[in-house]
Amino acid sequence: MTKDKLRLVVPWYVDNDMARGQQKIQSQQKNAKKQAGQKKKQGHDQKAAAKAALIYTCTVCRTQMPDPKTFKQHFESKHPKTPLPPELADVQA
Ligand SMILES: [Zn+2]
Repeated sequence: MTKDKLRLVVPWYVDNDMARGQQKIQSQQKNAKKQAGQKKKQGHDQKAAAKAALIYTCTVCRTQMPDPKTFKQHFESKHPKTPLPPELADVQA
């Protein structure tokens, strides 16, 4: 037997409680991983949706911006004499 194989042998002092505790931890880790995976998927979906929906094109100079905040800031600094588009009126810049 090699040293590596010896390390894999469960020591005699690992009793059932410890084994159960380990199982519980593994189960918790599995759940956490699962939840993280779901969160990640959701985040990805939201990000993709946001990317699809939140492309703002400046009505004056056709510059594209990823979010309304940037768009409003752009509009106010670049086109201060142009009335703000109605969709930007509620945006907190
Ligand atoms: Zn512009």
